[in-house]
Amino acid sequence: MRPLRILFVSSEVAPFAKTGGLGDVGAALPRALRAAGHDVRVVLPFYARVAEGGHEVRPTWGALEHQLGPHRLSFTTLEGTLPGTDVPVYFVHCPRLYMRPSIYTMDVDEHLRFALLGWAALRIAQQLRFAPDIAHVNDWQSALVPLTLRSVLAWDRLFERTRTVLTLHNVGHQGTFGAHVLSELGLEAARGMFHQDELGAGRLSFLLHGILYANAITTVSPTYAREITTPEQGVGLDGYLRGRADVLFGILNGIDGREWSPTHDPYLPHRYTADDLSGKARCAEELSRRVRLPHRPGIPRIGMVSRLTWQKGLDLCFEVLPWLLARHDAQLVVLGSGERKYEDFFARLAHLAPDRVAFANTFSEPLAHLIEAGSDMFLMPSRYEPCGLNQMYSLAYGTPPIVHRTGGLADTVQHFDRRTGRGNGFAFEHFDARGLAWALDQALSTYDDPTAWRRLVDNGMREDFTWDRRVAEYEAVYAKLVPEAAR
Ligand code: ADP
Repeated sequence: MRPLRILFVSSEVAPFAKTGGLGDVGAALPRALRAAGHDVRVVLPFYARVAEGGHEVRPTWGALEHQLGPHRLSFTTLEGTLPGTDVPVYFVHCPRLYMRPSIYTMDVDEHLRFALLGWAALRIAQQLRFAPDIAHVNDWQSALVPLTLRSVLAWDRLFERTRTVLTLHNVGHQGTFGAHVLSELGLEAARGMFHQDELGAGRLSFLLHGILYANAITTVSPTYAREITTPEQGVGLDGYLRGRADVLFGILNGIDGREWSPTHDPYLPHRYTADDLSGKARCAEELSRRVRLPHRPGIPRIGMVSRLTWQKGLDLCFEVLPWLLARHDAQLVVLGSGERKYEDFFARLAHLAPDRVAFANTFSEPLAHLIEAGSDMFLMPSRYEPCGLNQMYSLAYGTPPIVHRTGGLADTVQHFDRRTGRGNGFAFEHFDARGLAWALDQALSTYDDPTAWRRLVDNGMREDFTWDRRVAEYEAVYAKLVPEAAR
C-alpha cells in the first residue's frame, strides 16, 4: 500500500509514560508502522514524569490557546523522537493540567485533561499542515477525536480525507463523567451528536462516543473482539459494539523484539536463546540475589508482574497460593502495585514465608524483565484480559505462562499436552480457585518431567509474536478506510 499519513494519539507511550500495556503498544505500533513506510506522528501529554525522565525535547512554535467552555487553556508543543526511530513525538505541554504526580487522576478536571489531548492533537496537525489519512486514537482518553472531526472541525479541508480508527485496549475504562462536562469539552456546538439518553441519565462517556463515531474500531485480540459484544464482558457497551460489528476488528498486539527478547533485552545481565538456556539460569541466580531469596536451582519459581487490580484475577490467589505453598516446594516472586488488599496479601505472604516468597511493591522496568527471564513459569489468572503482553513476554523468555482462558490469553496460550508435546503453557477454563489450582498442579507436575518441560519451553520460545506480522493487519483496516491507498 502507499505510505499513509497517520496521526497517532495516546495517553501512554513508553518509555515516556506507561502504566500498563497501552504504553508498550503506544510505542511499538507507531514504530512498526514507521518501519512499514508510513509517516506517523505521535501526540502525548507532557506529564510530570516525562519532564522528570530527562528525555530530549525541543520547543516548537509558540503557545496555542484553547477554550474548553469557561476554561481558557494555553499549551505549548515540545517535540521529541520515539527512541530507535525518526517518528516525531509531539508533547502537549500544559502544566496546569499535566504536571501532577500520576498520569491518571481522580481530580475534578480529569475530563479537561484528556479533552485537551484530543484537541491538541488536531491543533498540532493544523499547525504542521499535516493532513492525516488516518487519525488513530486509543482508549477513552482520545476517543472524542472522531466526533470532533465530524462536527466542529468538519469545515477544515485539512481533515477532509481523514478517517478515524479507535483502538480499544480495555473497555473497562470508559472515561464516564457527569453530563455537565459537555459544556467543557469545546464541543457545545455538537451537542446533538452526543447520546441523548445517556445525557438524560446524567452521564457522558468519552469511549462510547468514540465507538459511535470512529470509522473503524479495533481491539487487541480476536477473542476480546467477540467477548466485548456480549453483555457479560461488554461493560455496558456491548449493544453499541454489536451495532458496529461490521467495522470492529480484533488484532492481537505484538511484542517489541528490541526490548522484549531474551537475545536482545538491554535490562538482562545475561542473554540467552532457545538453543542455549545457560543465560536464563544465570538470570535466575541474579533474580534470587535481587529479591533476596535463597537460590535453589531445580525448585520451580513462579513469577508475576502485574497491576494489582480486580481485573487481574488476584482474588483467586487468596485461596490458592497458600494452598500451593503448603503442597509444593516452590518459590514465588511478585512485582506489582495497585489496590491495597492485594498489596497487603502479597506482603503478608512474603512475611510468612520469607525464604519462598518475594514481593516487590513497586513499578520497576528492570525487575519486570529480570522476573520474566529468571522465573520458571509465569502466573496470570486475569478475570478478563483484552490482550495481555506479559504472557507473550513469558513465552519468548522460556517461562511458560499459567493463565485463565480469556481474551488475548485464549488467543496466545495453548494448554500443553504431554502426550503430543503440543502447547505452550497452562490454561484453565473456569474462573475459580479450583481451575487455578488445577492449572498450577499441571504446571508443577510437568516441571518435574525435564524432557516434557524442555519441549514446552521450546514451543513458546520458537513462536513469533513480533509486530511485523500485526502491522499488516492494521494496514488492512486502514486500507478499508482509504481504499485508494491499497495497491
Ligand atoms: P495491562 O495493560 O492490563 O496492565 P498487559 O499485560 O497488557 O496488562 O501489560 C502490562 C505491562 O505493564 C507489561 O509491560 C508489564 O511488564 C508492565 N507492568 C505491570 N506492572 C508492572 C510493575 N509493577 N513494574 C514494571 N512493569 C509492570
